[in-house]
Amino acid sequence: MQAVLLEEFQEPLTVQDVERPEPEPDGAVAEVIGCGICRSDWHCWQGDWDWFGYRPDPPHVLGHEPTGRVVSVGEDVENVEEGQAVAIPFNFACGTCDLCRNGRENICENHIGLGFMNQAPGAFAEEVHIPNADLNAVPLPDDIDAESAAGMGCRFMTSFHAMAHRAPVSAGDDVVIHGCGGIGLSAVHIANALGGNVIGVDLMDEKLDRAEDLGAVATVNAQEVDDPAKEVRDITDGGADVSADALGIATTCQNAVNSLRKGGTHVQIGLTTSEEEGMVSLPTDEFVAKEIDFKGSLGLQPSRYSEMLDMVESSKLDPTALVEDTVDIHQVPDELAAMSDYNTVGIPVCNEFSN
Ligand SMILES: [Zn+2]
Ligand SMILES: [Zn+2]
Repeated sequence: MQAVLLEEFQEPLTVQDVERPEPEPDGAVAEVIGCGICRSDWHCWQGDWDWFGYRPDPPHVLGHEPTGRVVSVGEDVENVEEGQAVAIPFNFACGTCDLCRNGRENICENHIGLGFMNQAPGAFAEEVHIPNADLNAVPLPDDIDAESAAGMGCRFMTSFHAMAHRAPVSAGDDVVIHGCGGIGLSAVHIANALGGNVIGVDLMDEKLDRAEDLGAVATVNAQEVDDPAKEVRDITDGGADVSADALGIATTCQNAVNSLRKGGTHVQIGLTTSEEEGMVSLPTDEFVAKEIDFKGSLGLQPSRYSEMLDMVESSKLDPTALVEDTVDIHQVPDELAAMSDYNTVGIPVCNEFSN
């Protein structure tokens, strides 16, 4: 089958023939319907995330935002059936560690990152393997179409967990999202649906326009002001209740924290780049003086997908609103290469794998 292969970090990606996966006894194989193309793929390709354990040994198939249709299941699988449409979280869980048993499968002790770790070849491919499928394959309702499903990749579900569970955003909260790429725009849309008054911050007017389309009540072009955080504090009359860094660079993280009012909560959604290697200096005394909470957010636990799917089914959330473009597998390398200059807007989705 065809797959997008990382053969050498930072060198051009290629589409190659690789072997089809076979299901492990507890696993399933799904035909990929759609797979979002994400900045995280780009980071992995750059070899950025050594310190996070997301640096596979090449050659490795990239892609971590799939939805699919199950084509075969292992002998020990009980709940997943052939033909079923499924969402596939990127952070596979074991189901048996303490965190999994306490409803925090997204940070499972034995977590395997789809497309990021050797154990899990990715989903820019005709088919993808899902280990421990009874937990990690999330059945989709019949009336969610494939395109919506394909828009619910890591960015959308990660943003849902960040806004709905980690912040959590409630009615009337002032919410500022720093960085309006795919994750950021998803967060804008979701925070708005949860009742927040959302402010989008970015360097590009085009992305800020999209943020307004998705429900932002105000935007700040960080290039046009001296201090974007002060701008947010002025707009919100003292600071936001919730801030998110949806990019993962020192500047956006610091600006986000500095946008908060007393008692506010910062949610870190983006991992950092090779520039920061996970280290960002922050105004810790402000955390003390203002009793600011700093929270991390990773993925979304399969057991809570139903909350997001319910909001999609009732049209409060529309993952297709973020899908900028659909492409075939041969265009994936170029789409990822285009991310090197941070100009991409919204979410491109690959939905044609075998041509
Ligand atoms: Zn676990
Ligand atoms: Zn992603």
